[in-house]
Amino acid sequence: MKISAIIPAAGKGARAGFGENKLLQKIGGETVIEKTVRAFEKSGMIDEIVLVVSEKDERAMRALFPAAVFARGGATRTESVKNGLNAAAGDIVLVHDGARPFVTADVISRCVESVKTYGSGVAAIPAADTLAAGENGFLSRIYGKEGNYIVQTPQAFYRKDLLAAFEKAEGAFPDESSLYLKYVGAPRLVEGARENCKLTFREDFGCPYRTGCGYDTHELVTGRKLILCGVTIPHEKGLSGHSDADAAAHAVTDALLSAAGLKDIGTYFPDTDPAYEGADSMELMRKVLRLLAGNGWKPVNVSLTVLAQRPKLAPYIDAMKNNLALILKIPPSAVGVGATTTEKLGFIGREEGIAAYASVLIARTV
Ligand code: MG
Repeated sequence: MKISAIIPAAGKGARAGFGENKLLQKIGGETVIEKTVRAFEKSGMIDEIVLVVSEKDERAMRALFPAAVFARGGATRTESVKNGLNAAAGDIVLVHDGARPFVTADVISRCVESVKTYGSGVAAIPAADTLAAGENGFLSRIYGKEGNYIVQTPQAFYRKDLLAAFEKAEGAFPDESSLYLKYVGAPRLVEGARENCKLTFREDFGCPYRTGCGYDTHELVTGRKLILCGVTIPHEKGLSGHSDADAAAHAVTDALLSAAGLKDIGTYFPDTDPAYEGADSMELMRKVLRLLAGNGWKPVNVSLTVLAQRPKLAPYIDAMKNNLALILKIPPSAVGVGATTTEKLGFIGREEGIAAYASVLIARTV
């Protein structure tokens, strides 16, 4: 018996406020729709994936899923699913929201088995909160928790039964279980899963902020300039390294990369690459910011501590701060730069090197 998964993915996701289809947003490095489709593929129970997509997203969706069957979205969910149903070849069809990427193989399997036994299988979980209806700002009817369910997807049926229901249907229905209930009969309840939630609001897509920390140290040698956050500081020694050896800039850059879950600075600008010989580290930071922007992140604030026994950095702190603010495109008030000695202890105290610690906060831009 052939089984199709019909996944409506044509919604605009207006409530999530991304300005584009929320299913093309990434969560954990993968788009929501990829996660959803993979869940069905990994279950090993599905012969065919039918994606119902809008004209606008069709190219992007076809590139992601070359093996899928495609149908065009309609004005309502009912229309969209009907189009998907007409394109599907399965004897059993599972309709599943594209925005439920955490569906498990167990839930999928229970829905399929339920169709084989009862003719239908609709994933649902017992209501944990009191359900109620409201009118004009007042509660008009309390349903309570007992015996009430939150209906999820998948909602599985024999294709011919669901088609027959769609043939009779007039107007729009919230989901296929309500349509089936009206035109065919009571759909069988199947145990869903709490984690099988629908990503609806922006906060459902994960925390919009991330923090990161970075550390760097370079050796102090004669015959080199001392550069910190792009500021050249008069001193008899400077930091040695392949680039301009700006340890402060490197610490901030690494903190930014780390916050975005990217690899460290050496991965992107290897010290074996002649292109970065004597490189201006603030320019490298600018490149990293473009990399972050490409991943949907921008800096919010940065906190930097430079450890140096000598020279005294106080006269240069404001210039360092302004340079960082300029490159990071954040106000100087969002940049904290401090300097400390190590009370003559260790390699920093012996003036053999300078180190820097940085921590940053970044925010999603989409
Ligand atoms: Mg370095």
